[in-house]
Amino acid sequence: MGKVLVIGCGGVAGVAIQKCAQNDTVFDEICIASRTVSKCEALKSKLEGKTSARITTAQVDADKVDQLVALIGEVKPDIVLNLALPYQDLTIMEACLATGVDYVDTANYEAEDTEDPEWKAAYEKRCREKGFTAYFDYSYQWAYDAKFKEKGLTALLGTGFDPGVTSVFSAYALKHYFDEIHTIDILDCNGGDHGYPFATNFNPEINLREVSANGSYWENGHWVETKPMEIKREYDFEQVGRKDMYLLHHEEIESLAKNIPGVKRIRFFMTFGQSYLTHMKCLENVGMLRTDPVMFNGQEIVPIQFLKALLPDPASLGPRTVGKTNIGCIFTGIKDGKERSIKIYNVCDHQECYREVGSQAISYTTGVPAMIGTMMVMQGIWKKPGVFNLEDFDPDPYMEALNKWGLPWQVDENPVLVD
Ligand code: NDP
Repeated sequence: MGKVLVIGCGGVAGVAIQKCAQNDTVFDEICIASRTVSKCEALKSKLEGKTSARITTAQVDADKVDQLVALIGEVKPDIVLNLALPYQDLTIMEACLATGVDYVDTANYEAEDTEDPEWKAAYEKRCREKGFTAYFDYSYQWAYDAKFKEKGLTALLGTGFDPGVTSVFSAYALKHYFDEIHTIDILDCNGGDHGYPFATNFNPEINLREVSANGSYWENGHWVETKPMEIKREYDFEQVGRKDMYLLHHEEIESLAKNIPGVKRIRFFMTFGQSYLTHMKCLENVGMLRTDPVMFNGQEIVPIQFLKALLPDPASLGPRTVGKTNIGCIFTGIKDGKERSIKIYNVCDHQECYREVGSQAISYTTGVPAMIGTMMVMQGIWKKPGVFNLEDFDPDPYMEALNKWGLPWQVDENPVLVD
């Protein structure tokens, strides 16, 4: 039994918190803290009478370490689950270190203001040294490893679906199916339809920045960078059908390249319809994806934040979204001297998620693993001092928990490969 402090109360947190509340023999106290406390209170009311967990709420600005330290001091959680935005990762890690509490998140650190000169200098150096230009990378959070070790605390990074479950699938494939993994293709397919001309399935700012950036993949020990959407493939997804998918940079490529010994190539593909891509290109061309402040009628606005205010709230897509997601990994490699390939994947139905927790499958497929990762650390199953990605731990208990908590997976031992 233990107490979790969840920071953030958006689409993903909504699911993760409901899953913690369902799992009330493990999470007997849940404090929901976010910038807009009314959202925390609304979720608390929704859960009343449905769980034996004690639920409290609090207001916090997670950009401020002192506010976080005061909150953690007051709530005294066993663990902090960060489901705010990647911008808050470092402040929340700092506060966990200051108060001696374990830390869990679902996305790696990203700077909010990419025009900040100090950040830009470090970024440009990293682009030159590492060879990929994504705005996010693990270096900022991995740099905390020694501090977490020193305090005997665990930080678990990236327990969503991708990153998250994809890392656990990789560790599971290596443990049970391969002596050596040579290639990993991560395929993220959303066959859902929400009926709007344009909307994003999770936070628009994070989503659009990711999709409009250069792609990249890992091959033979280095990064190969591509133009946005330059590499396109078609794939026939189980229970969804044929979809176009595009190669993107994605954060787990960086950790898997480090942690899966001998891996030669790692790629990440995501499906997009043509209409989504045309809308995004247009928004980019007119400057609506800019992340730096501009003056408008005497007031500073950040275009992508203004766009967020105009787009449908991802948390509101649940009732409208029909269809399924199919997310998983194709592995090739060697077992007992013979070549082999397998695919491990999960299929998730948007409407089933909506009936269970009131949200669509993208929030569900992230929120369930967020609860599971938190449970693994809080129960001591995945507890060791330092900063870790999910493939650093034994995958078996996590894989079992996926089946139990709503994300059952399949293994296909004869998958169609991506060329
Ligand atoms: P939302 O925008 O729906 O929710 C973010 C929440 O964080 C909101 O409640 C917001 O508050 C709160 N927040 C933002 N800034 C602060 C702050 N300074 N202080 C306190 N609270 C703050 O995002 P999502 O739920 O879609 O995404 C949550 C996280 O999950 C993101 O980091 C995202 O990158 C990650 N993610 C990971 C995936 C994976 O598979 N690994 C997939 C999808 C998402 P307010 O209500 O005031 O805006």
